Amino acid sequence: MESMVPMETLVSLCKRRGFIYQSSEIYGGLASAWDYGPMGVELKNRVQNFWWREMTQLHENIVGLDASILMHPRVWEASGHVESFTDPLVDCKKCKQRFRADQIPKQNMETHSCPECGGELTDPRQFNLMFRTHVGPVESDAFLVYLRPETAQGIYVNFKNVVQTARMRVPFGIAQVGKAFRNEITTKNFIFRTCEFEQMEMQFFIHPSEDGKWFEQWKQERFEFYEKMGIRETRMRFHQHGPDELAHYAKIAFDIEYEFPFGWRELEGIHNRTDYDLRRHMEYSKKDLTYLDDLRGGERYIPYVIETSAGLTRTVLTVLADAYDEEEVEGEKRVVMRLHPELAPVTVGVFPLVKKDGLAELAQEVARDLREDFTTFYDQGGAIGRRYRRQDEIGTPFGVTIDYQSKDDRTVTLRYRDTMEQVRVPIVELPERIRQAVREYRRVD
Ligand code: ATP
Repeated sequence: MESMVPMETLVSLCKRRGFIYQSSEIYGGLASAWDYGPMGVELKNRVQNFWWREMTQLHENIVGLDASILMHPRVWEASGHVESFTDPLVDCKKCKQRFRADQIPKQNMETHSCPECGGELTDPRQFNLMFRTHVGPVESDAFLVYLRPETAQGIYVNFKNVVQTARMRVPFGIAQVGKAFRNEITTKNFIFRTCEFEQMEMQFFIHPSEDGKWFEQWKQERFEFYEKMGIRETRMRFHQHGPDELAHYAKIAFDIEYEFPFGWRELEGIHNRTDYDLRRHMEYSKKDLTYLDDLRGGERYIPYVIETSAGLTRTVLTVLADAYDEEEVEGEKRVVMRLHPELAPVTVGVFPLVKKDGLAELAQEVARDLREDFTTFYDQGGAIGRRYRRQDEIGTPFGVTIDYQSKDDRTVTLRYRDTMEQVRVPIVELPERIRQAVREYRRVD
């Protein structure tokens, strides 16, 4: 089914099923901050693991890193963020709302009129998106630090460490997942744009003469990554940054965009950052960050960087929006999250047909064994159809039902979420059947 899920429907399912709650809800919530519940944290971890495996395990020339959020403040001077990481801000004098000047219709900017109430808008002023705080008890400039607005800088400042200690040779990459913070002027659309979020970034260091080739390669690989995760190709496209959109460090940039219920928006950016960052860190730190290339006859140079920068939390939203489906089954609405089995928070649901006559005991035994290999959820409450529907709503790809016949011949029913097909399977064969189905998964709507 190709229709788009309304955001209210998705937000409400996320709350109801324990994916995402509003932060500090009992105090009325904090705008644009969200908490990941039992299902949400499983999904987020799985998306992260999917990316991590793709980037590190499947690429022999990419290694991982986990840098701290707080860094020396000079890092952000060198990176250009203190000077340039700004958005143009306008205020409405009447309704007091704030907007990003580049996100409201041109006409409103030309007439200085508020897009919400028609009131008068202030002139745009540049607003730095970095959160500031202080290390230690004294709030003075000497102790000023920033919450990192991107994870990338942690990679650049460790470039030399990784070359020397992991014995990496250009071309190679460093991958990192972690929190980033931006004091966004407008935060809306659920977890799409928040002040605290997580990024999955990979910086690929190359010889400057090869930037075109590597840029193309990463552009394609990153697009294919989302397809592997089961995201519909028809809802993805590239968008090339025009000269007025390019970040201060970028020579060329493409976004992978996804068609969210609120329109096409960036999901990931692929940037050619040239030698901008390493060069600036050399200038500011006075440390030699050049690379001696023994494979190029001892040439010494500052590597160029191709960056792939994805939002983890934004990818979670993409996965959720893309997975949502509704259909009519026997006159009733079925809501089903068609999540890739490797991303689904629960892999197998186990259900005794009834609680009595020893079926619950046998079902618990089956669940216990499956738990060794899969995230398994045992549920004995309510009509079996209701139990299936509850699992469909969180995207559990497989259901195992234990009935009277199971006691006699130790076979069970294995139900597939997408097709609702049911097959009889010996209990001993369950793990292999499930593993095979995960390996061969193709989305069926
Ligand atoms: P925008 O112009 O929309 O503010 P950006 O182009 O500055 O975003 P990048 O700096 O390229 O974004 O960030 C890389 C990725 O990090 C984005 O593609 C997105 O997935 C994620 N990201 C950036 N800002 C946020 C945010 N405020 N909330 C959630 N994810 C974000």
